[in-house]
Amino acid sequence: MIVRKPQLSLTQKLYLPEILRGLMITMRHFLRRKSVTYEYPEKAKPVPANFRGLHRLIQRPTGKERCVACELCLTACPANCISMVATDPNDPNVEKFPLRYEIDTLRCIYCGFCEEACPCDAIELTPHYEQASSRREDFVHAKSRLLENNQFVPEGERISRVKTNETYLRV
Ligand code: SF4
Ligand code: SF4
Repeated sequence: MIVRKPQLSLTQKLYLPEILRGLMITMRHFLRRKSVTYEYPEKAKPVPANFRGLHRLIQRPTGKERCVACELCLTACPANCISMVATDPNDPNVEKFPLRYEIDTLRCIYCGFCEEACPCDAIELTPHYEQASSRREDFVHAKSRLLENNQFVPEGERISRVKTNETYLRV
């Protein structure tokens, strides 16, 4: 295939008109003064409806976690970042509950499979994503931290994602 060299007009060969045209575009955007940056952390960037951030363990009205330590989330997790120790809760209505439940958020890929696999709607990925530390162990969220993460979703609300074709919508 022969690629022909483009023929430049006289103004294009002079370059100056093209530079002026570029500067005019820059000035037009500059004078519009439409902010395109977020002054984080004072102003956080809104996350999309299907955003999956840090996990929370949802509680029953009694304050106890809904999790029954069935380990389905653990089995579904492709990153193998959930660990749990189950125990007998001494409650005739609940067979098991997690004595220890941990998620290594550095290994997590935020796929949401744990949320989808859970038969009790006990785990959910919240829109919150901020966490910082210089120690790796601070990124392993224990059960207490997962329960604390309930503060990032208004009480009584659920973030249910409905899959439509290839898109998840939060409804
Ligand atoms: S979001 Fe995905 S990778 Fe993260 S804990 Fe859940 S299943 Fe595992
Ligand atoms: S969070 Fe859900 S899937 Fe995971 S162990 Fe608890 S009840 Fe089972």
